[in-house]
Amino acid sequence: MKKFSLLMFLFIIMLVFPKGADASSYSAKIYMNENELNLSQGVHVENINGTVMVPIRVISENLGYSVSWNKAAQKVTVQGGGKTVEMVVGSSSANIDGNRENIAKAPVLRGGTTIIPIRFVSEQMGMNVSWNNHEKAVYLITPDYVGSNPGGSQNGSLTTIDGISFSNNRLMVAATGTVKPKVMTLTSPDRIVIDIENAEFSKDFGSNNNLDDTYHGDLAVTGYPDVKSVRYSLFNNNPSTVRMVIDLSYAKNYTLHNDASGLFIVDLNTASTPAPEPGAKGKKLVVIDAGHGAHDPGAISVSKKKEKDFALSLALKTAKLLQNDKNIDVVLTRSDDTFLELRDRVKIANNLKADVFISIHANAGPSSASGTETFYERSSSKSLANVIHKHMLKAVGLKDRKVKYGNFHVIRETNMPAILLEVGFLTNKTDESKLFDNNVQNRVAQSIVDGLKEYIK
Ligand SMILES: [Zn+2]
Repeated sequence: MKKFSLLMFLFIIMLVFPKGADASSYSAKIYMNENELNLSQGVHVENINGTVMVPIRVISENLGYSVSWNKAAQKVTVQGGGKTVEMVVGSSSANIDGNRENIAKAPVLRGGTTIIPIRFVSEQMGMNVSWNNHEKAVYLITPDYVGSNPGGSQNGSLTTIDGISFSNNRLMVAATGTVKPKVMTLTSPDRIVIDIENAEFSKDFGSNNNLDDTYHGDLAVTGYPDVKSVRYSLFNNNPSTVRMVIDLSYAKNYTLHNDASGLFIVDLNTASTPAPEPGAKGKKLVVIDAGHGAHDPGAISVSKKKEKDFALSLALKTAKLLQNDKNIDVVLTRSDDTFLELRDRVKIANNLKADVFISIHANAGPSSASGTETFYERSSSKSLANVIHKHMLKAVGLKDRKVKYGNFHVIRETNMPAILLEVGFLTNKTDESKLFDNNVQNRVAQSIVDGLKEYIK
C-alpha cells in the first residue's frame, strides 16, 4: 500500500515519442516465447557496443510490465513478477528491490526516448534471454513457458565453454563435455580459426570473461609478437557453434593438444619442425597460478587493494624471470585479469603434465596477523614447499608462519608437487605495504625462481 501511494506522487509519463534514425540502430526483432513481437512504428532496437537497447515503451507495450518514468530524477521504474527495477539515465548502477546491481550499459536518453538494456531488465523479471546474431533477433522465454523448442538449441546436451586464457603463446580453452575443435588457418589477414560445434558459452562465462549481449568477446593479449588479438563468439545457432579466432601478425603454424579431459590447447610455439611439448627435452615445466581474477578479487587490503592484482603482478614477474632459464618452461594459468575455476587451473597443470605447480595468494585475517606461510596438501609436495618457503621468507622479510598442511583444491587435485604461497597479510598495514612494493615483489619473484632452481637441480 505504501509503495502504491508513493507511486501516485511520482510524476509519471509514458513516453510515446518515436525515436529518430540513428546510425547504430537497425530493425532487430524481438521474439517472446517463439512469437515475434509487434513493435510500434518508429521503435528501433539498437546494439550499442554489444548491448541490445530498447525504448522503455517496448517494456510496457510489448512485454507487459508496468513502467513509470520520473522525469525530474531521470528514473525509470519497471515492475513485474513481484520485482521492482529502478534505473537512472547515465547510471550504471540499478536498484533491484532495494539492492544495488551493476548494469553493463546505463540507460540513455535519446531524442526524447529513454532506451534501456533489454537483457538486464528481462533477466531481472525471470526471463531467459538469448541473442541470435544471424537473425539480429532477441529471444525472450518467460519462466512458465513450455515451448516446442525447435532446433534443439536449449536441449542441454551442448558442450559448455567454461574458460579461456592465453599464456606462453598458447590458447587454452576449458570446457565441460566432449570437445572436438575444428582448427583452420586462414590468410588475408593471417589468422587461426577454431570452431567448436554443439557448444555454447557456460552460464558463468560472461561474468568471468569479456562477453557482450550478442555473445562476442575478446581476450587481452599483449607482449606476444605472433598474436594481435584473440576473439570469440557464438558464431552459429544451428548447430550452436562457438568460434575463436587468433589474429596473427604473420602466417604461423600451430599444434593442437586435445584429450578427453575437456581442456584443449592451440600451441603457437612451433616452427617448421613439430614443437617440443612444454617441458620436453629434459626441461622442467612450471605452472604459475595467480589466484582469483576478474569478478573474484580475493581478499581486500587495508587500503582497498585487491589480492587478485597482487597475485597477477607477482606471477607475471616470476614467469618473466623463468623465461630466461634454459632448463625451465613456464605456463601461467592466467596472464591478465580473467577468472578460471579452480578445476580449470588444475586441468591446465595436469594436462600439460607439469613438474611443479605454484599458486600465488595473499592472506587475510585480524589486523594484527602478519607473516609468510606456504601450504602443501600431499606429502610429495612438502620438500618443494620447504625450499620455496626458505627463499621466499628471506625476500619478504616478514614473520615466519612456517610451512603448513592446507586442504586447498588446487594443491590437492594436481598430480605434481604443488604448493600455495600466502606471501603476507593484506589486512596488516606493514605486510600490505611490502606486498604492493615493486622492489619487494621483484625480490620475491627472484626468490621463487631461486627456490625452483634449488628444487629442480
Ligand atoms: Zn587467495
